[in-house]
Amino acid sequence: MITARIAAPLAALAALQTPLPPNIITSPAACLSKLMSKQIIMLDCDGVIYCDKTPLPNSAAIIFRLMDAGKTVLFVTNSSALSRVSMCSKLNTILETTRLNVDQMVPSCYPAAWHIKKQVKDGEKVYVIGGQGIIDELNQLGVECVGGAADDHYGSSLSEADLEAYEIDPMVKVVIVGLAMDFNYRMVGHACLYLQNNLGCMLVSCNQDEFDILPSGRRQPAAGVVVRAVEHASGMKAVDCGKPSGVLFDLVSEEFGVEKDQSVMVGDRVTTDIKFGFDHGVDTVLVMSGCSDLAIVEEVLGGREGELKPTWVMPYLGFGLEEEGKLSKL
Ligand SMILES: [Mg+2]
Repeated sequence: MITARIAAPLAALAALQTPLPPNIITSPAACLSKLMSKQIIMLDCDGVIYCDKTPLPNSAAIIFRLMDAGKTVLFVTNSSALSRVSMCSKLNTILETTRLNVDQMVPSCYPAAWHIKKQVKDGEKVYVIGGQGIIDELNQLGVECVGGAADDHYGSSLSEADLEAYEIDPMVKVVIVGLAMDFNYRMVGHACLYLQNNLGCMLVSCNQDEFDILPSGRRQPAAGVVVRAVEHASGMKAVDCGKPSGVLFDLVSEEFGVEKDQSVMVGDRVTTDIKFGFDHGVDTVLVMSGCSDLAIVEEVLGGREGELKPTWVMPYLGFGLEEEGKLSKL
């Protein structure tokens, strides 16, 4: 069954004039063989394996096919809301399986914690703006956090008197920013106090996405909005740790042995997923089951040589397990 979300771009793809550019893959067998030609398959999550917690067609089946063939399948998301453990349980629930392992999970709070752990000394702390996933991953590596939900008792506003009275913890050496659905003025104030007063305090972001797209098509402000607020107020630039950053590429290289010619990144967003692969010399698959519509595909494929574009465009991840000719029947 093809969900409503991907039926429209698929029909549009089928209606494109032939011959299609060679990097638009419309045969299931070709889809499968491109994926099978790589040893490490990095998958974005929302818009690639599920939409709004509903699995996309054949998502679980193709993931298992790849795993059964001995491939390393990693789930690489810019979301930092959940720790690796919580993300694993979420994906297993959505895909109705127990086969996925914590070691396959790469939410952006994981490279962020990994990067921070390398920068801080014993006893140094991190001020957190963002979700529990960030705190869990830092604690897992033995790094203590302040801020986050523990700061809630201060309320959302920050008067001049509050700002003057706030007790600055001298051990805070990093401010980390992820998506905080309850983001407020107080958080920026506290973050800036640390960045201004604690010598060498670093600013780190889990991702810099501008927005996410809801199933209705409405745009939901994403972590980049929070990052920009802290950057603007502090005058500092955050070191990013999500897609398309070099920190993330260093992590997947070091922890998972990702080698450029043996790996592929599959995603639905050009500015993060495809740029991640493009910037680091890894082949990419742009799927049309998420936030990239036909207009975006035509725009990126129409770009000049050397400009950001996906290696291949496929209808959706699980298309490789469909019967031949499916696209032409739409
Ligand atoms: Mg996505």
